[in-house]
Formats: sequence, C-alpha cells, structure tokens
Amino acid sequence: MSRILIVGAGLTGSLCAYLLRKELPGKLQLVIWDKAKGAGGRMSTSRCPSDPNCTVDLGAQYITVTPDYARKHKTFHDDLLAHGICKPLSAVVEGMVMKDGSRNLVTPQGISSIVKHYLKQSGADVFYEHHVTQINLQGGKWQVCRRSGSPENFDAVVLTMPVPQILQLQGDIAKLIKESQRQQLETVSYSSRYALGLFYEAGTQIDVPWAAKYITDNPCIRFICIDNKKRNVESSGIGPSIVVHTSVPFGIKHLEEEKEVVQPLILKELSTILSHLPQPIDIKCQKWRYSQVTEAFPGCPGQIPLHTEPLLLCGGDGFTHSNFDGCTESALRIVEMLASRL
Ligand code: FAD
Repeated sequence: MSRILIVGAGLTGSLCAYLLRKELPGKLQLVIWDKAKGAGGRMSTSRCPSDPNCTVDLGAQYITVTPDYARKHKTFHDDLLAHGICKPLSAVVEGMVMKDGSRNLVTPQGISSIVKHYLKQSGADVFYEHHVTQINLQGGKWQVCRRSGSPENFDAVVLTMPVPQILQLQGDIAKLIKESQRQQLETVSYSSRYALGLFYEAGTQIDVPWAAKYITDNPCIRFICIDNKKRNVESSGIGPSIVVHTSVPFGIKHLEEEKEVVQPLILKELSTILSHLPQPIDIKCQKWRYSQVTEAFPGCPGQIPLHTEPLLLCGGDGFTHSNFDGCTESALRIVEMLASRL
C-alpha cells in the first residue's frame, strides 16, 4: 500500500484526501501534516478563548458559485448543501458586487466545517503542529523532516501550502526544482491583509442594519461582518462575533510589524466607522501574509510535478485561483496525476 503525505489541512489538502479515498479505495495510506493547531488553513474558524461556542471566520467568508462552476462542480456544491455544511446566504451584505447568475453559500458551523467535512470522510491520519521543514530523497522514497519529531518516509508527497512557503523548504527539494520551474513558481503572488475577530458576551446587541459591509472609503478597513448574522445563526446562549478585514495597502504597509502594534490601529479605525460598538470580551488578530492569489502559476494548471519518481506534487490556489472552486479544481488535477502514477 502506498503511503502518501499531504502537507496542509486546508481546503486543497482535505479535498485531495477525500477524493483520493473515493478514487483509490483501500490502495493508499493517507497522512496529512499541518503546522497549525487545527484544520482549515485560510478557511479558518477561530474560537473565542473564553467561550469556545462563540466563533468567527477569520479568512474566507462565503463560497461564491459562478454559473460555470455551478455546472462543473455541481456534485461538490450539492453534497455540502445536502449535509447542511452550506446553505444559501440570505443576510444583507452591503456593497457586495455579484457577477450575473452567481450565488453565495454560507456555513452555519463556520467556514472550517467544509474542510472538517472532507477530512472526516477521507479516513486520513491527520496530525497538527507538524511543521515540514525539509524534504530529502532516500532510497526511492521521500524523507520528510519536521520542526520537532522524527523524519518519516513516504512514497509520494503533495504540497498544498502557498507557493512562497514551498520555496522555503530545505533539503533535496531545493535542488530538485528545475530553474525554469523555480522562475515560474516565483511569479506566483498573494495579497496581504490583517483580520481582527471581536467576540462578545451572550446577549450583546450589535446594532447595524446589515450582516456584512464592504467599506470603500477607509484606508485601513475593507470589510466588516457580524459573523453570526452572516451565517444566520443567532443563538440566545452564544455571544455575537465580528470580523474585520483590512485593506491590502494597509496589510502591506504593516506586514512586518507585530500584531500587538497593528491591532490598536485597526480598532481605532473601526471606532470611526462604528462608533457605538460595545466592548468585546476577547479579540484575535490574524496576519494573512499570503491572503488571496493576485498572480497564479502560468496557465493555471491546478498542480505541477516537482519530481516524478518518486512523485512530488504541488497544488493549491496558487495554481488556479483563490476560492472554493479554485481549490476544488486543483485537488481534482492532483488526484488525476496521482491516480495515473500509483
Ligand atoms: P491554505 O488554506 O493556505 O492551506 C495550506 C495549509 O498548509 C495551511 O493550513 C498551513 O497551516 C499549512 N502549511 C503551510 N506551511 C506548512 C508547513 N511547512 N508544514 C506543514 N503545514 C504547512 N475564498 C472563498 O472561496 N471565499 C471567500 O470569501 C474568501 N475570502 C478570503 C478572505 C481572506 C482574508 C483570505 C485569507 C482568503 C479568502 N479566500 C476566500 C481564499 C481561500 O481561503 C483560499 O483560496 C483557500 O482557503 C486556500 O486553501 P488551500 O488549501 O489551497 O491553502
């Protein structure tokens, strides 16, 4: 049985594992390593430290289904709707620009529930706080090293993290990437922004006429969302939560600063937009150094092989585009390649 390592428990990694299980049942031992403490990657749902029932989506907010992808990925969307993981967005989002025929889906349990749904069905052994640092060739297998703990060997490896993080990996992988491939990988770029999650006590009223709003006239803040209102889950025992996304220029300007320095700047701007906000019980500040893809890998191939014998692939939104369907497309291309080689 081939032992496959998927690096990254985000949407691409979890979908790869789910699809591989469906495509090659009983043929593979699937292992997923992620450096984070939990599943989701940029589809992360964060818990309030003092009330774990109160959550906020710090990265992706909704799944926007275009007419093309509604046809192409219908089985994926239908499956998420049938399992109650997604439902149509019904709340008011001010300033949202929708292309003709597109629709939005929200996740009542938070956006990371999509990733958890796929992980659960994949049967993969998932390990968190496993930060991959080096990949070496050893006796026809990949020896994968992590920041702490022993290295392990795999027959094939799939990398799904943002491209700059792939290029940071040490060991043989650094020498195996062909110069022409490296140059193309270096063209992949991402926007940067901060996200602030504000958690409130149960019973707190956030008095605004929308669930989310795009802000166009503020240098710092681009998007504000009353998260539970967006997801259409207002439970009396659970406090509301708000997520604030900064603009990309603000994110880039403050990229190398500490979160402790940036958080008060965002809060100050927020108070100029919403002057009567109550006091939160907790705040989380997230720096998205690699937020959304601004320039994808040339030709958007979904995946590229860095090595064929043994197989080492990389994929993720850097090889398509930054949304649910971009990651799905990448996962499908990765699985196609693996299935043809294993
Ligand atoms: P990731 O989610 O980045 O997953 C990669 C994983 O690899 C991470 O979990 C990371 O911890 C792990 N990793 C990295 N390096 C290592 C290492 N060395 N060792 C081990 N693990 C490692 N998309 C939408 O569809 N709708 C939206 O509304 C939307 N809004 C967004 C808003 C923001 C602020 C952001 C940041 C993103 C948004 N996106 C949205 C984009 C969407 O979140 C991404 O396209 C998608 O989550 C990418 O998934 P992925 O699995 O390819 O990568």
